Amino acid sequence: MIMMLSLTLSAGQKVKNVIFMIGDGMGLAAVTAAWIGEGQPLAMQRATVGGFVATWSASARVTDSAAAATALACGVKTANGVIGQTPDGQSVESILTRAHKAGLATGLVDTYSITDATPAGFIAHVRSRKDQETIAAQIADSGIDVFMGGGRQFFTSRKDGRNLAAEMEAKGYRMTGTLDEALSCKRPRLGVLAAEGALEKADAGRGDYLARATEKTLELLKAASRKGFFVMIEGSMIDGGGHANDLKMVVSETLDFDRAVARAFDFADRNPGTLVVVTADHETGGLTMPAASNDKEQHALTPGVDYLFSTKGHTCTMVPLLAYGAGAEAFGGIKDNTDLPRIMARLLGLKW
Ligand SMILES: [Zn+2]
Repeated sequence: MIMMLSLTLSAGQKVKNVIFMIGDGMGLAAVTAAWIGEGQPLAMQRATVGGFVATWSASARVTDSAAAATALACGVKTANGVIGQTPDGQSVESILTRAHKAGLATGLVDTYSITDATPAGFIAHVRSRKDQETIAAQIADSGIDVFMGGGRQFFTSRKDGRNLAAEMEAKGYRMTGTLDEALSCKRPRLGVLAAEGALEKADAGRGDYLARATEKTLELLKAASRKGFFVMIEGSMIDGGGHANDLKMVVSETLDFDRAVARAFDFADRNPGTLVVVTADHETGGLTMPAASNDKEQHALTPGVDYLFSTKGHTCTMVPLLAYGAGAEAFGGIKDNTDLPRIMARLLGLKW
């Protein structure tokens, strides 16, 4: 009954807020493994529209997170390793920057360094994703309203001696070193640098950081602009589980991401005109689930029997695309990664 109601309300509704959620390295098998591991349906399954995204970059069939982020943020294919530029070095504008220029509030949330490839693609322009000090400086100058993640070292322990956190405070930002300190913050601008580099893993002390960071960011962005907002929220470490061929990590990080998706869907239920799009930048690990034990009630997954990884790297298989809320209908079928920011921008009425 509730689901039918939200379907009716979302049809044809004007889109004011976009919550773009990226599970880094989250292929279909990761979602399936998380579902089996949890033993019950995921929040992602509340999505009303589904499809697939092709992930190749301009330089390779198998993309890295930098080219994928540039495609998902700026609608342009680039070479692996490049952030916010075409293969020949022209800067390209992201949907987040376009939203900011149009007066919408903007935000970025992740569980790794906020200067890492995926969030960087939404704000920065650099030849190499490794240039994280430059990415931090570009974040500091971007006018972004809220960001939460790790990577403090790139703001405060820099080769050029600048202290970007202090500079941002001078510009009116509240800067904190933990999410807890940020919870009392009633309005932007806010920057949370919760670790020197990456945060801890979901099953090694990070707790419900991502879900809480998601909820706090949405509350602040809602208060920041009457025109609406654009935010990108990343489940950053599913990718690391795939690279390590560590299914336990893939499952715990995917479930952690799913808890943030639940908060985003709940926000969309409470705030008409909110679109949530959930996807991945690429698949990692070449995970397959042959289920040789083939017991449907069995939630423990045995390596080599119930699952196999086929690579320590990324693969080019298409990734899931899920949408919920206002404008969700636009995300069915097979899309290219460069299609997504363009569709979201059109729904928000942003110039492209
Ligand atoms: Zn990766």
